Formats: sequence, structure tokens, C-alpha cells
Amino acid sequence: MSGLGRRYMGQNFLISEAVARAEAAHAHGKIVLEIGPGKGILTRELCSVAKRVVAVEKDTRLCTVLRSSLQYPNLKLVNKDFFDATPSELESGYIDIVIANIPYSISSRVVMWLREHELPAVLCLQKEFVEHMLAREGEGSYSRLSVTCALSFRIIEIMKVPRNSFRPVPEVDSEVVFLEPHGAAITDAESDTINLIMQHKKKTLRNAIIDSKAELGISEEKLDAFVRSNDCSMRVFMMSPQQILGVAKGLASLQKP
Ligand code: SAH
Repeated sequence: MSGLGRRYMGQNFLISEAVARAEAAHAHGKIVLEIGPGKGILTRELCSVAKRVVAVEKDTRLCTVLRSSLQYPNLKLVNKDFFDATPSELESGYIDIVIANIPYSISSRVVMWLREHELPAVLCLQKEFVEHMLAREGEGSYSRLSVTCALSFRIIEIMKVPRNSFRPVPEVDSEVVFLEPHGAAITDAESDTINLIMQHKKKTLRNAIIDSKAELGISEEKLDAFVRSNDCSMRVFMMSPQQILGVAKGLASLQKP
């Protein structure tokens, strides 16, 4: 495959069995979903300890190789883009945990999918992405991802993975994290509102709300009243995830007819 194709698929293959084994340590006796098995270094470790492994790989060429090299009775290989796979292909509802080394390009979407499905995960992610996930208010990396993650997961850093653990060697280092969903999940409407407000994170809350007026779908009258009756003078990026959730809940209640 051309270099461009590799980048498009985000293909950097893990070569460290120690990292794969550390990730698979969370799979014992479980039904595991793996996204992007690649050449199968992690899949092998998962199959040897998990009850069942559902591995979804979009690259048909890799799938053909995997089908002949991995013959485990507890493995189901699905040749699809993960985001196009049906719930029955993913055996969703039965999955206990997601364990995967995924490309940077789909990290955000996978984390949002985990939030929606309230599933725990062990993921190897780009180090900078993990910094964004863990950032707190006032920090440069604080973003909508940080807010959503703080409200949705307990995040445990498991191990740093240097770039030379992959072939071809990527331009960034990685890190394995464990994500455990919180009991109090945020709703899709709250998540959308958080994303809207965080788009204007350098502004005051007042201006962030006013600039999101069209997307919020709340009448000008109600928004004015909200902005007048709450303290909206803070810069959005100085507000804690809980404070931002409070605002999202307040605005969501105004969206109701
Ligand atoms: N997990 C393997 C491969 C990592 S590279 C390892 O650790 O070595 C990322 C893999 O994800 C590649 O095999 C790529 O083809 C696959 N991939 C990328 N986007 C995908 C998607 N949307 N759905 C399924 N697989 C995807």
C-alpha cells in the first residue's frame, strides 16, 4: 500500500508484545471488542485470555491475512469500518470491554462512542490526545474533549508507549489508558451543548452563549433572561467540567417546549 494509504488508515503496527500483554491483562474471561486489529499482535494476546473477541478491521487486505494466520475458536473477525458496523456485527449488548490500539484520526469518535455505550476501555492513544483528555480548566489543552471525558470517565494512565514500539515509527509517542464510565452519564443534548460552548472557550460564558444562539435553538428572550440571572462573566476555559455541565443543564431545560 502507498504511504498515503497507510496514513489514511492510520496504520502503525505495534511490535511490543509486552505492551500487548499488558493491555490483554484486562481481558480475562471477558467478551472483548477490538477496533483495528491490524496484523493481530494484540488480537493474539486477547484470544488467549478472553472469553470471546470481536475484532473489526476495515482494511480488506489485512483481514485476509488475519483470517489465515489467526485461527482461534473464540475470535470473530469483521471486515468493516467500525463506524459502519451494525450492532449485531459488533455484538453490542454483550461486549464487556473495548481493548484496542487505534489510529489518532478516529480517537475522538471512539471515545464519544464509548460514552454513548457506557463501555469501559483500554486504549493506546497518542500522548497529546491523552493530555487533552486529562486537561483541567485553565490549562492550554483544556477542550470539549477534556470536559466530556471528565464528566463521563474515570481515566487511569497505565503505561507510556514510546514511538519506536510501532512500525512504521510514527511521529508521536503514545500512552495506554483505562477508561471507566462514571455512573452519572451525560445526555446527548448536554454533550452537544457542552461542545457548542467549548467552541468559544476563550470568550466569556455570556458571549459563548450568545454566539451559540442559532445552534442552541432557544428564543432570544429566554437566553437574555438566562444570561441576566446567572453569573456569565467567567471565561469558558476557566470553568470546571461540573460548572460547564451546570450551564448545559440550565440551557437544556430552556430548550424544552
Ligand atoms: N491494533 C494494531 C494495528 C494498529 S494500526 C496494532 O496494534 O498493531 C490501526 C489499525 O486500525 C489498522 O489496521 C487500520 O487499518 C485500522 N483502522 C483504521 N480505521 C479503522 C476503522 N474506522 N474501522 C476499523 N479499523 C480501522
